[in-house]
Amino acid sequence: MNLEHHFAGLGEAFYAKTRIQPLLQQRLVEFNQELAHSLSIDIKSSETKSILNGETPIEQALSMVYAGHQFGGFSPQLGDGRGVLLGEVRDDRGLLQDLHMKGAGPTPYSRRGDGRAVLRSCIREYLASEAMHGLSVPTSRALALFDSEQPVYRETPEKGAMLLRTAQGHIRFGHFEFFFYQRRDDELKTLLDYCLEHYYAQCLATDAPLENMLIEVVKRTARMIAKWQAVGFQHGVMNTDNFSFTGETIDYGPYGFMEDYEPDWICNHSDYEGRYAFSRQPGIGLWNLNCLMRCFSRLLEREQLIAILQHYESELQSHYESLMKAKMGVNDTKRLEILLPSLFSILAAEKMDYSIFFRLLSKLMPDNRHIILDEVIDRERMSQWLTQYQQAREQENENWQQVSLQMQQVNPKYVLRNYLAHEAIVAAEEGDYLPFRRLLTVLSAPFDEHVENEKLAQRAPDWGKSLEVSCSS
Ligand code: AMP
Ligand code: MG
Ligand code: MG
Repeated sequence: MNLEHHFAGLGEAFYAKTRIQPLLQQRLVEFNQELAHSLSIDIKSSETKSILNGETPIEQALSMVYAGHQFGGFSPQLGDGRGVLLGEVRDDRGLLQDLHMKGAGPTPYSRRGDGRAVLRSCIREYLASEAMHGLSVPTSRALALFDSEQPVYRETPEKGAMLLRTAQGHIRFGHFEFFFYQRRDDELKTLLDYCLEHYYAQCLATDAPLENMLIEVVKRTARMIAKWQAVGFQHGVMNTDNFSFTGETIDYGPYGFMEDYEPDWICNHSDYEGRYAFSRQPGIGLWNLNCLMRCFSRLLEREQLIAILQHYESELQSHYESLMKAKMGVNDTKRLEILLPSLFSILAAEKMDYSIFFRLLSKLMPDNRHIILDEVIDRERMSQWLTQYQQAREQENENWQQVSLQMQQVNPKYVLRNYLAHEAIVAAEEGDYLPFRRLLTVLSAPFDEHVENEKLAQRAPDWGKSLEVSCSS
C-alpha cells in the first residue's frame, strides 16, 4: 500500500496525531475487491493487514479538527471523534483518495463518545455508499469492514466494528468554520490553498482562483443534492460538518431511500422538527453553503459571495431536470413541467413506491398499462395521466422500445430498502454475511435484472415499514 501524506503535511493546527486502536478479535469480514484493485491495495497482504489492525502504527495518521452547524446551532469544535485518516493513495486515474478508518477508537475530539462504531452502523454505511455509487451519486466508498467480539454500548450492547472508507476528500464545510470563528485567517487561507491544489487545480490557472473554486463547490453541492432528490435519497443529518468541500455524500447515519412516495418524509427519528426532511434538502444545501461562504467574508466582498451563491439554484434545477427527463424518457422541458407535478401528486395520494413506479414506467408499452394501473387505487386518475404521458412520448420519439431501454438504465430495479438492510444486519450480527453480500451484489448493479435475487426488489412487508433509525450509532 503506497500511502502518501499530503493533509498531514499541513501541520498540527489542522489535526491531532492518532492511531488505530484494534478491537477485540478484530476480523476482516468483507472488502471491496474492485475498489481495492483500482487503488493497488492488497488488503490481505500481511503489511496491509498489520496496518489496518493497528499493529503497525502509521506515524502520520491523524484525526481532523473541524466545527459545524448541527441542526442549526453552531458547535465550535467537533472533529473526528472516532475516525483516523491513514493518508492518501492514488487510484488508477492518478487521483488521490483518502483512506479513513471509522470506529478506530477514542481521539482528542471524542468528547463524551467512546470513539467506536457498531457493526449495525458500519453495515448501513457500507451498503449505502455502494448503493449510491451504483446509482452514480458522488459518494465516499466502502473499502473494508471489520467485525469483532468487542461489546460497544448503545441502547444495548452491540458488536464493535470498523469501516475503512475512501473519498476524494474529507474536508468539510465545518473545517472552514472552525478557523473562521476563531479568527485564524492564516490557517483558513492555508486550507483554501490546499483545496485549490488538491481538488480544484483547474481553477489555479484562472484569473480568480478562489472565487472560481467556490463557484465549483456550489455547483458540485447543487448537483449532488439534485441527484439525491432524483434517486429518492435522504441524508438525515445535513449538518455542515457532514458536508464535504469536494461535493461527495459522506457520513451515512440515519439516512433513508424513499419507498412510499412522501415528499415531507423524515427518515431520522431524532429529527423532531423535520429540519432535514426529504423536500427540505435543496433548501438546506443552500443554507449550508451560506454558512460556508460566511467563512470567506474577510477575504471576499459580500457582493462576490452572493454572486457565488447564486449559482446554486440554477445548477440544481437544471441538473434535476435533466435527471428527471432521463427517468421519464421525456426530452422536452415544457412537457416535463406538465407531467411531473401531476405525477407527483398522484404518487403522493397513492403512497406509491417511488422506485417501483419508475421501474414500471420504463417497462411500460402502449399495450400493457395494467402493470401500473394494477398498483393504484384511483385507476381513472392514473389512466388519464398515462394517456398524457404516452402522447408526449410518441410525439418525441417513434422508437418506444429504445427509449424504454434507456430508461431502464437510470431507473433502478434494486434500492436499499430499510428492511433489507435490517435483515442483512441481523444475520451479520450472528456471523452470517451472506444476506449482506447478496444485497451488495444487486445494489452495485441496480439496473440489472439479477433474476436469482428477484426477491430483493420487493417492497417492504408490514413489519419492515416501521423500523426506526436515529442518530447515535
Ligand atoms: P455524526 O453525526 O456521526 O457525523 O457525528 C458528529 C460528531 O460526533 C463528529 O465529530 C463525530 O466524530 C462525533 N462522534 C459520533 N459518534 C461518536 C462516538 N461514538 N465517539 C466519539 N465521537 C463520536
Ligand atoms: Mg459526521
Ligand atoms: Mg451519526
